[in-house]
Amino acid sequence: MIVVRTAEWAEQALGTGQIGCPHSGCGGTLTRWGYGHRRRVRRLGAQILDVRPRRARCTRCASTQILLPASVQPRLADTTEVIGTALASKADGHGHRRIATALDRSPSTVRRWMRRATHHVHLQWLWQRGSQALIRLDPDAFNQLPRAASPLRDALTVLAAAAYAARQRLGLTEPLWTLIGLHTQGRLLAAPT
Ligand SMILES: [Zn+2]
Repeated sequence: MIVVRTAEWAEQALGTGQIGCPHSGCGGTLTRWGYGHRRRVRRLGAQILDVRPRRARCTRCASTQILLPASVQPRLADTTEVIGTALASKADGHGHRRIATALDRSPSTVRRWMRRATHHVHLQWLWQRGSQALIRLDPDAFNQLPRAASPLRDALTVLAAAAYAARQRLGLTEPLWTLIGLHTQGRLLAAPT
């Protein structure tokens, strides 16, 4: 799986041979190769997003990849924005029941997200992903970031700052949560245990 900015970006990048094979040492480029399974993903509120990710194939080693838009997360039924909004609410000190009510999701679903998001190893990884992106885009902004509120708050702050910098410096127009999804490569939550 490769996480891409948007499906439209992926179409164009595949058409012009801009996406390299992720297998180390291969050096091939990816071309269009059908589609993955259609998925229905819940947005904020009751809206549904229909996603049919593009599949691509390497011209050299023939391996195939799913190109997943950063607005959704692998194997999850809610968008990056929904899960990110829940995490931001948790960072504000709200419990999973209150977050579930606000988002109209089941408490058990939200609790599962929290368990997968707030393990200290994963929070450190999120912080590192945000820091690397922000240092690359705007080192001054990185140096001025407030620190040490809480590991979750720190991780979300640096990811949001990096997403904002990507819009400012690179002219990207995707929503902030989509850019955060891009910087975290579909892993806003840690792998389920
Ligand atoms: Zn390859």
